Amino acid sequence: MKVLLSGNEAIARGAYEYGCVFASAYPGTPSTEILENVTHYKEIKCQWSPNEKVAVEVAIGASFAGGRALCAMKHVGVNVAADPLMTLTYIGVKGGFILVSADDPGMHSSQNEQDNRNYAKFAKIPVLEPSDSQEAKDFVGKAFEISEKFDTPVILRMTTRTSHGKGLVEVGDRIESKVERGFERDFSKYVALPMNARKRRVVVAEREKKLKEFVEETDLNRIEEGKGNIGFITCGISYQHLKEVLPDAPVLKIGIPYPLPMKKIKDFVSKFDKVFVVEELDPFIEEQIKAEGIKVYGKEFFPEIGEFSPEVVRNGLVKAGVLKEENKVEAEDKAIPRPPVFCPGCPHLGIFYALKKAKAKIVTGDIGCYTLAAIKPFEMMDTCVCMGASIGNAIGMEKVLGSGKGIAAVIGDSTFVHSGLTGLVEAVYNKSNITIVISDNSITAMTGGQPDARSGFTCNHEPTGKMDFEVVARAIGVEHVYVVDPTKMDETYKIVKRELEADHLSLIISQGPCVLYPQKVKREKFYTELENCTACAMCSKIGCQAIYRTTEKTEKGRFKWNIDTTLCTGCGLCIQMCKFDAIRPISRKGE
Ligand code: SF4
Ligand code: SF4
Repeated sequence: MKVLLSGNEAIARGAYEYGCVFASAYPGTPSTEILENVTHYKEIKCQWSPNEKVAVEVAIGASFAGGRALCAMKHVGVNVAADPLMTLTYIGVKGGFILVSADDPGMHSSQNEQDNRNYAKFAKIPVLEPSDSQEAKDFVGKAFEISEKFDTPVILRMTTRTSHGKGLVEVGDRIESKVERGFERDFSKYVALPMNARKRRVVVAEREKKLKEFVEETDLNRIEEGKGNIGFITCGISYQHLKEVLPDAPVLKIGIPYPLPMKKIKDFVSKFDKVFVVEELDPFIEEQIKAEGIKVYGKEFFPEIGEFSPEVVRNGLVKAGVLKEENKVEAEDKAIPRPPVFCPGCPHLGIFYALKKAKAKIVTGDIGCYTLAAIKPFEMMDTCVCMGASIGNAIGMEKVLGSGKGIAAVIGDSTFVHSGLTGLVEAVYNKSNITIVISDNSITAMTGGQPDARSGFTCNHEPTGKMDFEVVARAIGVEHVYVVDPTKMDETYKIVKRELEADHLSLIISQGPCVLYPQKVKREKFYTELENCTACAMCSKIGCQAIYRTTEKTEKGRFKWNIDTTLCTGCGLCIQMCKFDAIRPISRKGE
């Protein structure tokens, strides 16, 4: 039976069909839907982990106990997970182990554009790269087989288009793994002490040799015969773009970009006048081929930056002289530009307004919805490096500037659990006097509302322990801890101002639920009595998208402000800004 699945849904289906028993992840676009879809298969135990490193570590445990394990994350998450991964490559697996890296060419939702095929070469492990949803599912099965056969972790590399694009997928029944469950002690394999690791290093080298033989034989690297004297080597989503532009071209489609089937490539290249390597981002395949002394063309015609499309590939082929100029198409962005904005009633609004009003000198930021505070109307976030960096950045600035007074670090609850905790320990231990704000909406909102250790429920919606930041902070040694409701503007402002000016480390936990998760917040809405509006524009300063400037003017010619009641979530921030009784709860309408 065929069903329409996105690449991420197909990976989840593959995990089910090929006997996966455990899956872990940390949410991050474009990988998030993988674990969300795994939750539909009761045969697979699954969980959101506090970060990617932990997600890999628990999946490693599952593999060591004989279960097939899958761990999913976005590309930058692999940086966090690199530590256990780099040693797992030496130890190997018992049950098959797959790390899914969902890369984001074009940075649709990411702070950088790294090509994670490089991790495979770095870790000396195979990477599989599907081109569509069918392959995404099939490659899960192949990856488990390779993992168990060669005693190696395997990377399954997706990109935004293969993760989110939909295609028909032939689905089948579940096949349980033949690997016996249970953990058998094996000191020389599982304990990565230097004396063992040195021996395993040799095993890794031998494994690489065997893998190089395997990739020559496997149908994951296949030749598609075609017309003409120009050949193409391609992989992943680039294969689809190339086939759209040149459907009849002879192609060596690479399913395993590392290690490459060099004999197959040499043989393929020898049959053509010219061979082009068409691959998104880094010249990963191209450089490996050129290092073998084989002549191919690639990045001199195709860009190394940004996402590919049929137009990008077509333009590269024009540049290379393969297609004529008249075929050249300029890529056109037809989408109407829409700047990202906070949701109406978002609890981050109140805390950033307080920081602005209190004139925080520097605000170091982090990864989450609240990074939107860097742009108008707040412009109250001065740095954003990576998950959990806000606290460390603020401490570093304090050390150079001589004082942490006026410096605030803002981090969300999920990011704090991910990797902010160690920053807090650093702040206490190294006598920092910055102000740390956890903007706690008790959900991982930016990726679509996945629960975290603060939420009180698991990925399967079961109630679970709820981390208490106040207790944790005090246990770490923070003396000045305050919990504020960011919709209470005066109270929040007073505490923020006082702590910014204080000569000690403080933690302000700004608590307010995300207006969309886990249930959409429904409170009494507000409206504007336009007759009373003096057009002072104070209400507009809190950055709520429900508040808009009307075309109606006061006698002095200033535009009045109104509330779109369909968008208002009733947080009550704006009413605290209005001194003229123009903003009222809807129950007072007409008074
Ligand atoms: S704060 Fe009140 S008076 Fe001022 S613009 Fe807004 S609604 Fe009008
Ligand atoms: S109460 Fe005011 S600030 Fe809050 S969501 Fe409604 S319009 Fe926006």
